[in-house]
Amino acid sequence: MPGPHNPSTPETAITQCRTLEEDEATHCGKPATEGYPCPERCKIHQQQYRTMYCKYKEAAKHVDEVKQSGSIPTTHEIELYGKLEVVLKKINFVRKYIEAVRVERTGRRIHGTRFFLKSAFISSSKQSPMLTVTFFIAFM
Ligand SMILES: [Zn+2]
Repeated sequence: MPGPHNPSTPETAITQCRTLEEDEATHCGKPATEGYPCPERCKIHQQQYRTMYCKYKEAAKHVDEVKQSGSIPTTHEIELYGKLEVVLKKINFVRKYIEAVRVERTGRRIHGTRFFLKSAFISSSKQSPMLTVTFFIAFM
């Protein structure tokens, strides 16, 4: 005898979008329709997720390139700067680096909090160059 067939039972349950709104406390109330392998977000939050991910990954790439290039001046190098033109060029370089670090750190934290419901997620590997840069700015 074949098992009972119940056509009213849904094949897949509709889940709610797992994203927190910008207040980082309120859950999105829309159905999750986007994501792989299982839908985890609504269409709007999936777009935000992708945009934010690309933005902080791009910033992280810049941060890593600067770190690997060894372009962040040492204290001794800073002491040897004698021309205003060189100083201004280095300040501009460091400002761009600081902005990339800020974008990456903020992006990772917000991304983890809103889309993965994690508390502060900040890579400690980014701490050291920041201290050097902070010293550089304070020295100028
Ligand atoms: Zn949503």
